[in-house]
Amino acid sequence: MANDNLTAVLHGIEDLRLEQRPIPEIGDHDVLLKMDSVGICGSDVHYLVHGRIGDFVLNKPMIIGHEASGVVAKLGKDVKHLAVGDRVACEPGVPCRYCDHCKGGKYNLCPDMVFCATPPYDGNLTRYYKHAADFCYKLPDHVTMEEGALLEPLAVGVHACRRAGVGLGSKVLVLGAGPIGLVTLLTAQAMGADQIMITDLVQNRLDVAKELGATHTLLMDKDDNVEEIAKQIHQIMGVEPDKTIDCCGAESTTRLSIFATRSGGCVVIVGMGSPEPKIPLINALAREVDIRGVFRYCNDYPAALALVATGKVNVKRLITHHFDITETSKAFETARYGHGGAIKVMIHVQPKDTNNKK
Ligand code: NAD
Ligand code: ZN
Repeated sequence: MANDNLTAVLHGIEDLRLEQRPIPEIGDHDVLLKMDSVGICGSDVHYLVHGRIGDFVLNKPMIIGHEASGVVAKLGKDVKHLAVGDRVACEPGVPCRYCDHCKGGKYNLCPDMVFCATPPYDGNLTRYYKHAADFCYKLPDHVTMEEGALLEPLAVGVHACRRAGVGLGSKVLVLGAGPIGLVTLLTAQAMGADQIMITDLVQNRLDVAKELGATHTLLMDKDDNVEEIAKQIHQIMGVEPDKTIDCCGAESTTRLSIFATRSGGCVVIVGMGSPEPKIPLINALAREVDIRGVFRYCNDYPAALALVATGKVNVKRLITHHFDITETSKAFETARYGHGGAIKVMIHVQPKDTNNKK
Protein backbone atom coordinates (compact mmCIF):
# COMPACT_ATOMS: atom_id res chain seq x y z
CA MET A 1 0.00 0.00 0.00
CA ALA A 2 2.85 2.41 0.82
CA ASN A 3 3.85 2.48 -2.85
CA ASP A 4 0.33 2.50 -4.20
CA ASN A 5 -0.05 5.57 -6.36
CA LEU A 6 -3.11 4.69 -8.39
CA THR A 7 -3.58 7.50 -10.90
CA ALA A 8 -6.17 8.45 -13.53
CA VAL A 9 -4.31 9.14 -16.76
CA LEU A 10 -5.87 10.44 -19.95
CA HIS A 11 -3.94 8.88 -22.83
CA GLY A 12 -6.07 10.31 -25.63
CA ILE A 13 -9.64 10.78 -26.76
CA GLU A 14 -11.91 8.25 -25.01
CA ASP A 15 -8.86 6.64 -23.43
CA LEU A 16 -8.81 7.24 -19.67
CA ARG A 17 -6.84 4.62 -17.72
CA LEU A 18 -6.08 3.87 -14.10
CA GLU A 19 -2.42 3.05 -13.68
CA GLN A 20 0.38 3.12 -11.15
CA ARG A 21 2.69 6.12 -11.21
CA PRO A 22 5.78 6.80 -9.08
CA ILE A 23 5.18 8.86 -5.94
CA PRO A 24 6.55 12.34 -6.76
CA GLU A 25 9.71 13.74 -5.15
CA ILE A 26 9.10 17.17 -3.65
CA GLY A 27 11.15 20.37 -3.78
CA ASP A 28 11.93 22.68 -0.85
CA HIS A 29 8.79 24.80 -1.32
CA ASP A 30 6.42 21.92 -2.11
CA VAL A 31 4.22 19.60 -0.15
CA LEU A 32 3.37 16.01 -0.96
CA LEU A 33 -0.38 15.58 -0.65
CA LYS A 34 -2.22 12.39 0.01
CA MET A 35 -5.20 13.25 -2.14
CA ASP A 36 -8.70 12.94 -0.73
CA SER A 37 -11.44 14.37 -2.96
CA VAL A 38 -11.37 15.38 -6.61
CA GLY A 39 -14.44 16.81 -8.36
CA ILE A 40 -15.01 16.28 -12.07
CA CYS A 41 -15.18 19.52 -14.05
CA GLY A 42 -16.69 20.05 -17.49
CA SER A 43 -13.17 20.67 -18.81
CA ASP A 44 -12.00 17.22 -17.65
CA VAL A 45 -14.88 15.68 -19.59
CA HIS A 46 -14.08 17.92 -22.57
CA TYR A 47 -10.48 16.64 -22.72
CA LEU A 48 -11.76 13.05 -22.53
CA VAL A 49 -14.21 13.60 -25.38
CA HIS A 50 -12.31 16.04 -27.64
CA GLY A 51 -8.65 15.80 -26.55
CA ARG A 52 -8.35 19.59 -26.58
CA ILE A 53 -9.81 22.87 -25.39
CA GLY A 54 -8.93 25.66 -27.82
CA ASP A 55 -5.17 25.84 -28.11
CA PHE A 56 -4.58 23.41 -25.24
CA VAL A 57 -4.09 20.09 -26.98
CA LEU A 58 -3.46 16.72 -25.36
CA ASN A 59 -0.31 15.50 -27.10
CA LYS A 60 0.91 13.12 -24.43
CA PRO A 61 -0.67 11.24 -21.52
CA MET A 62 -1.89 13.59 -18.79
CA ILE A 63 -3.15 12.97 -15.27
CA ILE A 64 -6.69 14.29 -15.10
CA GLY A 65 -8.42 16.28 -12.32
CA HIS A 66 -7.98 19.71 -10.74
CA GLU A 67 -10.80 20.36 -8.24
CA ALA A 68 -9.06 18.85 -5.29
CA SER A 69 -8.26 18.55 -1.63
CA GLY A 70 -5.76 16.40 0.23
CA VAL A 71 -3.80 15.86 3.40
CA VAL A 72 -0.19 16.97 3.77
CA ALA A 73 1.98 13.85 3.84
CA LYS A 74 5.42 15.45 3.50
CA LEU A 75 6.82 18.99 3.75
CA GLY A 76 9.54 20.65 1.73
CA LYS A 77 12.22 22.05 4.02
CA ASP A 78 11.26 25.70 3.43
CA VAL A 79 7.55 25.27 4.03
CA LYS A 80 6.59 27.15 7.19
CA HIS A 81 2.82 27.59 7.14
CA LEU A 82 1.73 23.96 6.92
CA ALA A 83 2.33 20.80 8.91
CA VAL A 84 2.12 17.12 8.12
CA GLY A 85 -1.48 16.05 8.64
CA ASP A 86 -3.00 19.39 7.63
CA ARG A 87 -6.08 19.09 5.48
CA VAL A 88 -5.81 21.47 2.54
CA ALA A 89 -7.59 22.71 -0.54
CA CYS A 90 -5.33 22.80 -3.53
CA GLU A 91 -5.47 25.82 -5.86
CA PRO A 92 -4.57 24.09 -9.11
CA GLY A 93 -2.76 26.83 -11.03
CA VAL A 94 0.76 27.82 -10.05
CA PRO A 95 2.06 30.92 -11.87
CA CYS A 96 5.69 31.91 -12.50
CA ARG A 97 5.65 34.61 -9.76
CA TYR A 98 8.14 36.76 -11.78
CA CYS A 99 6.30 38.22 -14.78
CA ASP A 100 4.51 41.59 -14.85
CA HIS A 101 1.13 39.92 -14.43
CA CYS A 102 2.29 37.98 -11.41
CA LYS A 103 3.97 41.01 -9.88
CA GLY A 104 0.91 43.12 -10.60
CA GLY A 105 -1.25 40.67 -8.71
CA LYS A 106 -3.10 39.24 -11.69
CA TYR A 107 -1.38 35.91 -11.65
CA ASN A 108 -4.26 34.19 -13.47
CA LEU A 109 -2.96 35.97 -16.60
CA CYS A 110 0.59 34.63 -16.21
CA PRO A 111 1.70 33.20 -19.58
CA ASP A 112 3.77 30.56 -17.79
CA MET A 113 1.00 29.27 -15.57
CA VAL A 114 1.31 25.59 -14.68
CA PHE A 115 -2.29 24.47 -14.31
CA CYS A 116 -3.39 21.00 -13.26
CA ALA A 117 -4.85 18.92 -16.06
CA THR A 118 -4.34 21.58 -18.70
CA PRO A 119 -1.95 20.13 -21.28
CA PRO A 120 0.93 19.58 -20.95
CA TYR A 121 0.61 19.64 -17.14
CA ASP A 122 -0.57 16.78 -14.98
CA GLY A 123 -3.61 17.02 -12.73
CA ASN A 124 -4.23 15.51 -9.34
CA LEU A 125 -6.64 12.59 -9.57
CA THR A 126 -3.96 10.40 -8.05
CA ARG A 127 -3.19 9.09 -4.59
CA TYR A 128 -0.01 11.15 -4.10
CA TYR A 129 0.48 14.54 -5.66
CA LYS A 130 3.13 17.22 -5.31
CA HIS A 131 2.05 20.87 -5.16
CA ALA A 132 3.49 24.32 -4.40
CA ALA A 133 2.85 24.81 -0.69
CA ASP A 134 1.77 28.44 -1.07
CA PHE A 135 -1.10 27.31 -3.29
CA CYS A 136 -2.45 25.02 -0.56
CA TYR A 137 -5.00 26.41 1.89
CA LYS A 138 -5.47 24.81 5.28
CA LEU A 139 -9.07 23.85 5.95
CA PRO A 140 -10.63 24.47 9.36
CA ASP A 141 -11.74 21.24 11.06
CA HIS A 142 -15.42 21.79 10.34
CA VAL A 143 -14.92 22.18 6.59
CA THR A 144 -15.12 18.84 4.78
CA MET A 145 -12.64 17.59 2.20
CA GLU A 146 -15.42 17.67 -0.42
CA GLU A 147 -16.03 21.33 0.35
CA GLY A 148 -12.29 21.88 0.04
CA ALA A 149 -12.38 20.41 -3.46
CA LEU A 150 -15.36 22.59 -4.36
CA LEU A 151 -13.44 25.75 -3.52
CA GLU A 152 -12.13 25.48 -7.07
CA PRO A 153 -15.41 26.12 -8.90
CA LEU A 154 -16.49 28.42 -6.05
CA ALA A 155 -13.41 30.57 -6.67
CA VAL A 156 -14.61 30.99 -10.27
CA GLY A 157 -17.94 32.26 -8.90
CA VAL A 158 -16.14 34.63 -6.52
CA HIS A 159 -13.96 35.95 -9.32
CA ALA A 160 -16.96 36.41 -11.64
CA CYS A 161 -18.97 38.30 -9.00
CA ARG A 162 -15.96 40.48 -8.16
CA ARG A 163 -15.39 41.23 -11.84
CA ALA A 164 -19.09 42.15 -12.15
CA GLY A 165 -18.92 44.35 -9.07
CA VAL A 166 -21.81 42.55 -7.36
CA GLY A 167 -22.67 44.20 -4.07
CA LEU A 168 -25.46 45.25 -1.73
CA GLY A 169 -28.69 45.62 -3.64
CA SER A 170 -27.39 44.30 -6.97
CA LYS A 171 -29.95 42.87 -9.36
CA VAL A 172 -28.13 39.94 -10.87
CA LEU A 173 -28.97 37.75 -13.84
CA VAL A 174 -27.08 34.45 -14.04
CA LEU A 175 -27.32 32.53 -17.31
CA GLY A 176 -26.84 28.79 -16.83
CA ALA A 177 -27.48 26.70 -13.73
CA GLY A 178 -24.59 24.27 -14.11
CA PRO A 179 -21.99 24.08 -11.33
CA ILE A 180 -20.49 27.44 -12.32
CA GLY A 181 -23.86 29.19 -12.56
CA LEU A 182 -24.85 27.78 -9.18
CA VAL A 183 -21.66 28.85 -7.39
CA THR A 184 -22.08 32.28 -8.98
CA LEU A 185 -25.62 32.41 -7.59
CA LEU A 186 -24.37 31.43 -4.12
CA THR A 187 -21.58 34.01 -4.19
CA ALA A 188 -23.85 36.80 -5.44
CA GLN A 189 -26.20 36.07 -2.53
CA ALA A 190 -23.34 36.21 -0.06
CA MET A 191 -22.14 39.49 -1.54
CA GLY A 192 -25.49 41.09 -0.85
CA ALA A 193 -27.34 40.89 -4.16
CA ASP A 194 -30.98 41.72 -3.76
CA GLN A 195 -32.42 39.74 -6.65
CA ILE A 196 -30.80 36.86 -8.50
CA MET A 197 -32.53 35.42 -11.51
CA ILE A 198 -31.15 32.32 -13.18
CA THR A 199 -31.94 30.66 -16.50
CA ASP A 200 -31.23 27.23 -17.94
CA LEU A 201 -32.47 24.74 -20.51
CA VAL A 202 -32.97 22.05 -17.87
CA GLN A 203 -35.75 22.31 -15.28
CA ASN A 204 -34.05 20.06 -12.73
CA ARG A 205 -31.06 22.44 -12.54
CA LEU A 206 -33.41 25.38 -12.06
CA ASP A 207 -35.10 23.49 -9.22
CA VAL A 208 -31.73 23.20 -7.47
CA ALA A 209 -31.10 26.92 -8.09
CA LYS A 210 -34.47 27.75 -6.53
CA GLU A 211 -33.64 25.56 -3.54
CA LEU A 212 -30.35 27.45 -3.19
CA GLY A 213 -32.19 30.76 -3.06
CA ALA A 214 -32.54 32.09 -6.61
CA THR A 215 -35.31 34.69 -6.48
CA HIS A 216 -36.51 33.89 -10.01
CA THR A 217 -35.87 31.13 -12.52
CA LEU A 218 -36.64 30.87 -16.22
CA LEU A 219 -36.65 27.74 -18.33
CA MET A 220 -35.41 28.64 -21.80
CA ASP A 221 -35.20 26.95 -25.12
CA LYS A 222 -32.10 27.00 -27.32
CA ASP A 223 -34.06 28.55 -30.18
CA ASP A 224 -35.73 31.31 -28.18
CA ASN A 225 -35.53 34.84 -29.56
CA VAL A 226 -33.14 36.39 -27.06
CA GLU A 227 -34.47 39.95 -27.45
CA GLU A 228 -37.90 38.64 -26.47
CA ILE A 229 -36.40 36.67 -23.58
CA ALA A 230 -34.63 39.81 -22.35
CA LYS A 231 -38.00 41.60 -22.15
CA GLN A 232 -39.49 38.62 -20.36
CA ILE A 233 -36.63 38.71 -17.84
CA HIS A 234 -37.25 42.41 -17.16
CA GLN A 235 -40.91 41.68 -16.59
CA ILE A 236 -40.24 38.81 -14.20
CA MET A 237 -37.60 40.70 -12.22
CA GLY A 238 -39.58 43.92 -12.25
CA VAL A 239 -36.29 45.70 -13.05
CA GLU A 240 -33.48 45.39 -15.54
CA PRO A 241 -30.51 43.53 -14.04
CA ASP A 242 -27.43 45.67 -13.52
CA LYS A 243 -25.11 42.66 -13.60
CA THR A 244 -25.41 39.68 -15.93
CA ILE A 245 -23.05 36.75 -15.61
CA ASP A 246 -23.06 34.30 -18.51
CA CYS A 247 -22.14 30.83 -17.27
CA CYS A 248 -23.25 28.88 -20.36
CA GLY A 249 -20.79 29.26 -23.19
CA ALA A 250 -23.44 29.56 -25.90
CA GLU A 251 -23.58 32.33 -28.48
CA SER A 252 -27.25 32.91 -27.73
CA THR A 253 -26.62 33.45 -24.01
CA THR A 254 -23.79 35.88 -24.69
CA ARG A 255 -26.19 37.82 -26.91
CA LEU A 256 -28.89 37.61 -24.26
CA SER A 257 -26.53 38.86 -21.57
CA ILE A 258 -26.08 42.12 -23.49
CA PHE A 259 -29.74 42.63 -24.40
CA ALA A 260 -30.86 41.90 -20.85
CA THR A 261 -28.46 44.17 -18.97
CA ARG A 262 -29.53 47.63 -17.88
CA SER A 263 -27.81 50.62 -19.50
CA GLY A 264 -24.63 51.39 -17.61
CA GLY A 265 -24.52 47.84 -16.23
CA CYS A 266 -21.96 45.11 -16.57
CA VAL A 267 -21.86 41.82 -18.44
CA VAL A 268 -19.38 39.20 -17.32
CA ILE A 269 -18.67 36.28 -19.63
CA VAL A 270 -17.54 33.11 -17.88
CA GLY A 271 -18.84 30.45 -20.29
CA MET A 272 -16.47 29.57 -23.07
CA GLY A 273 -18.12 28.77 -26.37
CA SER A 274 -17.45 29.67 -29.95
CA PRO A 275 -14.23 31.70 -30.28
CA GLU A 276 -15.90 34.46 -32.31
CA PRO A 277 -19.56 34.69 -31.38
CA LYS A 278 -21.85 37.20 -33.07
CA ILE A 279 -22.75 39.74 -30.39
CA PRO A 280 -24.69 43.04 -30.40
CA LEU A 281 -21.61 45.12 -29.67
CA ILE A 282 -23.10 48.44 -30.78
CA ASN A 283 -26.09 47.90 -28.53
CA ALA A 284 -23.67 47.43 -25.64
CA LEU A 285 -21.54 50.47 -26.45
CA ALA A 286 -24.47 52.79 -27.08
CA ARG A 287 -25.83 51.89 -23.66
CA GLU A 288 -22.43 51.83 -21.93
CA VAL A 289 -22.81 48.20 -20.93
CA ASP A 290 -19.35 46.98 -19.97
CA ILE A 291 -18.34 43.51 -21.14
CA ARG A 292 -15.75 41.76 -19.03
CA GLY A 293 -14.05 38.43 -19.28
CA VAL A 294 -13.20 35.95 -16.56
CA PHE A 295 -10.22 33.67 -16.62
CA ARG A 296 -10.38 31.26 -13.72
CA TYR A 297 -9.59 33.21 -10.52
CA CYS A 298 -6.90 35.17 -8.80
CA ASN A 299 -6.54 35.72 -5.06
CA ASP A 300 -10.05 34.29 -4.72
CA TYR A 301 -9.40 31.06 -2.81
CA PRO A 302 -9.20 32.75 0.61
CA ALA A 303 -12.59 34.42 0.08
CA ALA A 304 -14.08 31.18 -1.25
CA LEU A 305 -12.83 29.35 1.83
CA ALA A 306 -14.17 32.07 4.12
CA LEU A 307 -17.61 31.84 2.48
CA VAL A 308 -17.73 28.11 3.17
CA ALA A 309 -16.13 28.23 6.63
CA THR A 310 -18.54 30.91 7.87
CA GLY A 311 -21.53 29.03 6.49
CA LYS A 312 -22.46 31.93 4.18
CA VAL A 313 -22.36 29.54 1.26
CA ASN A 314 -23.38 25.91 1.17
CA VAL A 315 -21.71 24.19 -1.75
CA LYS A 316 -22.53 20.67 -0.61
CA ARG A 317 -25.89 20.67 -2.40
CA LEU A 318 -24.01 20.72 -5.71
CA ILE A 319 -22.59 17.25 -5.12
CA THR A 320 -25.01 14.74 -6.57
CA HIS A 321 -22.75 11.68 -6.93
CA HIS A 322 -19.85 10.03 -5.13
CA PHE A 323 -17.43 7.47 -6.58
CA ASP A 324 -14.22 5.81 -5.46
CA ILE A 325 -11.12 6.44 -7.60
CA THR A 326 -11.34 2.80 -8.75
CA GLU A 327 -14.70 3.73 -10.33
CA THR A 328 -13.28 6.68 -12.25
CA SER A 329 -14.67 5.64 -15.64
CA LYS A 330 -18.18 5.32 -14.20
CA ALA A 331 -17.77 8.69 -12.51
CA PHE A 332 -16.82 10.30 -15.83
CA GLU A 333 -19.73 8.64 -17.59
CA THR A 334 -22.09 10.04 -14.96
CA ALA A 335 -20.67 13.54 -15.32
CA ARG A 336 -20.55 13.36 -19.09
CA TYR A 337 -24.13 12.28 -19.68
CA GLY A 338 -25.60 13.95 -16.61
CA HIS A 339 -26.95 10.59 -15.44
CA GLY A 340 -29.28 10.82 -12.46
CA GLY A 341 -29.44 14.63 -12.70
CA ALA A 342 -25.71 14.86 -12.07
CA ILE A 343 -24.42 18.32 -11.20
CA LYS A 344 -21.10 17.79 -9.42
CA VAL A 345 -19.58 14.31 -9.39
CA MET A 346 -17.02 13.79 -6.62
CA ILE A 347 -14.28 11.15 -6.76
CA HIS A 348 -12.90 9.89 -3.46
CA VAL A 349 -9.25 8.96 -3.58
CA GLN A 350 -9.48 7.76 0.02
CA PRO A 351 -12.62 6.15 1.45
CA LYS A 352 -15.27 8.86 1.93
CA ASP A 353 -15.06 10.67 5.28
CA THR A 354 -11.58 9.33 6.13
CA ASN A 355 -10.43 12.90 6.76
CA ASN A 356 -13.69 14.60 7.71
CA LYS A 357 -13.96 15.58 11.35
CA LYS A 358 -17.72 15.44 11.62
P1 NAD B 1 -22.31 23.05 -17.56
O1 NAD B 1 -22.30 22.63 -18.98
O2 NAD B 1 -22.53 22.04 -16.50
O3 NAD B 1 -23.41 24.18 -17.35
C1 NAD B 1 -23.86 25.00 -18.36
C2 NAD B 1 -25.36 25.18 -18.16
O4 NAD B 1 -25.82 26.11 -19.12
C3 NAD B 1 -26.11 23.86 -18.36
O5 NAD B 1 -26.94 23.60 -17.25
C4 NAD B 1 -26.90 24.12 -19.64
O6 NAD B 1 -28.17 23.48 -19.62
C5 NAD B 1 -27.02 25.63 -19.64
N1 NAD B 1 -27.19 26.18 -20.97
C6 NAD B 1 -26.54 25.86 -22.10
N2 NAD B 1 -27.00 26.58 -23.13
C7 NAD B 1 -27.95 27.39 -22.63
C8 NAD B 1 -28.79 28.36 -23.20
N3 NAD B 1 -28.75 28.64 -24.52
N4 NAD B 1 -29.65 29.02 -22.38
C9 NAD B 1 -29.70 28.74 -21.06
N5 NAD B 1 -28.93 27.81 -20.47
C10 NAD B 1 -28.08 27.15 -21.24
O7 NAD B 1 -20.94 23.81 -17.33
P2 NAD B 1 -20.30 24.48 -16.02
O8 NAD B 1 -19.30 23.54 -15.44
O9 NAD B 1 -21.34 25.04 -15.13
O10 NAD B 1 -19.46 25.64 -16.72
C11 NAD B 1 -20.15 26.66 -17.40
C12 NAD B 1 -19.27 27.33 -18.44
O11 NAD B 1 -18.22 28.03 -17.78
C13 NAD B 1 -18.57 26.38 -19.40
O12 NAD B 1 -18.59 26.97 -20.70
C14 NAD B 1 -17.14 26.32 -18.91
O13 NAD B 1 -16.23 26.04 -19.93
C15 NAD B 1 -16.99 27.73 -18.40
N6 NAD B 1 -15.94 27.95 -17.41
C16 NAD B 1 -15.16 29.04 -17.60
C17 NAD B 1 -14.19 29.36 -16.68
C18 NAD B 1 -13.37 30.56 -16.90
O14 NAD B 1 -12.31 30.68 -16.29
N7 NAD B 1 -13.82 31.50 -17.71
C19 NAD B 1 -13.97 28.53 -15.56
C20 NAD B 1 -14.79 27.41 -15.39
C21 NAD B 1 -15.78 27.14 -16.31
ZN1 ZN C 1 3.90 35.03 -14.15
